[in-house]
Amino acid sequence: RASVGPQYLSGLNPEQREAVETLDGPVLVLAGAGTGKTRVLTTRIAHILSQGRARPSEILSVTFTNKAAREMKHRLGQMLGHAVEGMPWLGTFHSIGGRILRTHAELAQLKSNFTVLDVDDQVRLLKQLLQADNIDDKRWPARMLAGLIDGWKNRGLTPSQVPSGEAAVFANGKGGKLYASYQERLKILNAADFGDLLLEDIRIFREHPDILRQYQQRFKFILVDEYQDTNVAQYLWLRLLSQAPTSFASPRVRGEVGSPGSAIARPSDPGEGDSQQAELVEAAPHPDLLSVSEARRDPASGEKEQTRHVKNICCVGDDDQSIYGWRGAEVDNILRFDHDFPGAKVIRLERNYRSTGHILAAASHLIAHNEGRLGKTLRTEDQDGEKVTVTGSWDSEEEARGIGEEIEQIQRQGDKLNEIAILVRASYQMREFEDRFVTLGLPYRVIGGPRFYERAEIRDALAYLRVINSPADDLAFERIVNTPKRGLGDATVQMLHDHARKRRIPLFEAARAVVETDELKPKARGSLRDVVAQFDRWRAQREVTSHTELAEIVLDESGYTEMWQKDRSADAAGRLENLKELVRSMEEFENLQGFLEHISLVMDRDSGADEDAVSLMTLHSAKGLEFDNVFLPGWEEGLFPSQRTLDEQGRAGLEEERRLGHVGLTRARRRAKIYFATNRRIHGTWSTTIPSRFLDELPAANVEITESKGGSAWGGTGGYGASRFDDMEAFGSTYSTPGWQRAQANRNRGGGGGGNGGRGSFEEQASSFSSQSSSPDFGSF
Ligand code: ATP
Ligand code: MG
Repeated sequence: RASVGPQYLSGLNPEQREAVETLDGPVLVLAGAGTGKTRVLTTRIAHILSQGRARPSEILSVTFTNKAAREMKHRLGQMLGHAVEGMPWLGTFHSIGGRILRTHAELAQLKSNFTVLDVDDQVRLLKQLLQADNIDDKRWPARMLAGLIDGWKNRGLTPSQVPSGEAAVFANGKGGKLYASYQERLKILNAADFGDLLLEDIRIFREHPDILRQYQQRFKFILVDEYQDTNVAQYLWLRLLSQAPTSFASPRVRGEVGSPGSAIARPSDPGEGDSQQAELVEAAPHPDLLSVSEARRDPASGEKEQTRHVKNICCVGDDDQSIYGWRGAEVDNILRFDHDFPGAKVIRLERNYRSTGHILAAASHLIAHNEGRLGKTLRTEDQDGEKVTVTGSWDSEEEARGIGEEIEQIQRQGDKLNEIAILVRASYQMREFEDRFVTLGLPYRVIGGPRFYERAEIRDALAYLRVINSPADDLAFERIVNTPKRGLGDATVQMLHDHARKRRIPLFEAARAVVETDELKPKARGSLRDVVAQFDRWRAQREVTSHTELAEIVLDESGYTEMWQKDRSADAAGRLENLKELVRSMEEFENLQGFLEHISLVMDRDSGADEDAVSLMTLHSAKGLEFDNVFLPGWEEGLFPSQRTLDEQGRAGLEEERRLGHVGLTRARRRAKIYFATNRRIHGTWSTTIPSRFLDELPAANVEITESKGGSAWGGTGGYGASRFDDMEAFGSTYSTPGWQRAQANRNRGGGGGGNGGRGSFEEQASSFSSQSSSPDFGSF
């Protein structure tokens, strides 16, 4: 093909160009990381517009994050040489789904200004429902129910469609009914949750064929990025919209999702305990999908006739980067594309434009250890570049210090901080980097979630410490006076405020005064008196105990730790772990005052979007992004791969972890640097860790073992870490047993708590980020 044509096409390779120029009919670009899938999508939009095939408002384009959508608009502007007017339908599933729902809100018994609830609101609402139904929230936590409902919504199931077996797992069969009353409550409150933004659309489309037809006619082209991570609801929504309006014989969706009877998707990566029950239940396929299987069995059903009229839809994705299985994503969606969209053109791209040779080889070699994959070739015409480095450190603190130094060095060489990312497996890992960066004065931003000290449980704990340190800290006092619940509700707080204002004293002093009067009911007065007495006691203890010990005592005696211990919901374990991490972080300071000053510095830093700053994020949030320099800390058994996947039977979880590793490595353009620490402190106790099995799976030729800057892990004495490397494939296996298996054996022999303490910690990322992860960014719509 001659490379004549518009400027924006000129740099593309023939396969990319084909994907851009095949505007009619379904197209799937199934290709590895960095091969230009996202670039193809962007160029395709430019092409559609410049060919006059559609107006900006007639293109539906789904990206994984709002950031990606903005990026795409920006690129489009560059390609076309002028800013694009509009593109109202370029955004995430949630933002576009929300937009459609607002337009037809009345059909979902909502007003167009409905509120979108975040996870905390959702849980609060569910708690009320549980209370009203006399269901013990301790036995049946609201968060667990929230997880279940989320899971059902991800699978496109309305309350009446939830299979009774699944509804039965919660509160002795009340799950389905609670889901229904939750939906009713939402309507009364004029609110929707994230799941509704798609689910209600789907319902409206089904019940109002005329409305569906409007959208089908409007969207002349549909484009979807990261298709491997779509869940059933997203799939159903897309399928409905992608039928050509003429084929509108029945609102039934054609296609098949999920093998019937496959195990239920975990609601939201729940922690341990009760949620196990949910996993035992077989997931029934979506009712619509049943009808499809029947249609398949009956060739006379007219299915062919219908599916022939599919829209111009172009999906791009990579099965090796499917990392949201735990949230209900169905990698099958991509594997089955050509069944769903007969006549689809499947295009493969093999040239990676992102990474240098060594990085790409390492990433490809790692992912080749997965069995369940399509397999693909990736090549680069770039130079080999620097080898991927693997560095062992003595502990996580040294790891953070070493990385900090390397970053400063990279910066001195003239690289921008914007081109540096640290990708962690579990969000609690971020804390040490944040502290380090604050000390170094290195600007950083956390992407995809709150910074460590901004997490709810950390703020609560800090609030206790602040009140001890400064009794006049009203904000802190108000935050925790009724956390955990002590029967000191809004009315009491209001009363304290009135008191405090009148006498011009802090809330805490107002509390002290009020308990001497009979203004409060006896019960509230009693608990407020306890609170005042507790703080007095803690302040006295402060003089005689260390600040870390004091923090432990406070968390313990206040009932705060217990509150999370009793909370058997998905993210409770992660929150407890964060609390431990908080106490541990205090050790580095001389006293409480010093620690709190440090915190106020950390909290004060706002990282402006334009600032040149290091990016800190989880591997999950790094999807689709690229950086010149990528740091990958914490490659240890029990952290990465996560303890949860190690405890699980079967390969699926481990393969998803490996894909995560692959995603991490393939984010790097020029440098990928992997780290592991020999000792990591989890749950307040040190444990010796075992380097990740994924290190064994890296190819020797592309990896360089380096010394930690701190040097203490090796000390040149052939310490633990060094001998460990003898097993690395990278060193040409000297033993017949794969390294990690022996590592495993070492652990069984009693490598201490090695990594077991990490249990649940990664899920924290899933759940305390769950608002973010269920919608990587749920900005405005
Ligand atoms: P991922 O799977 O990680 O999302 P991707 O397949 O979407 O990756 P892109 O992000 O589109 O890949 O492209 C990776 C990098 O390669 C980008 O910097 C992009 O600009 C560049 N690139 C893609 N195609 C070409 C090309 N034909 N010529 C030059 N650079 C290209
Ligand atoms: Mg991409």
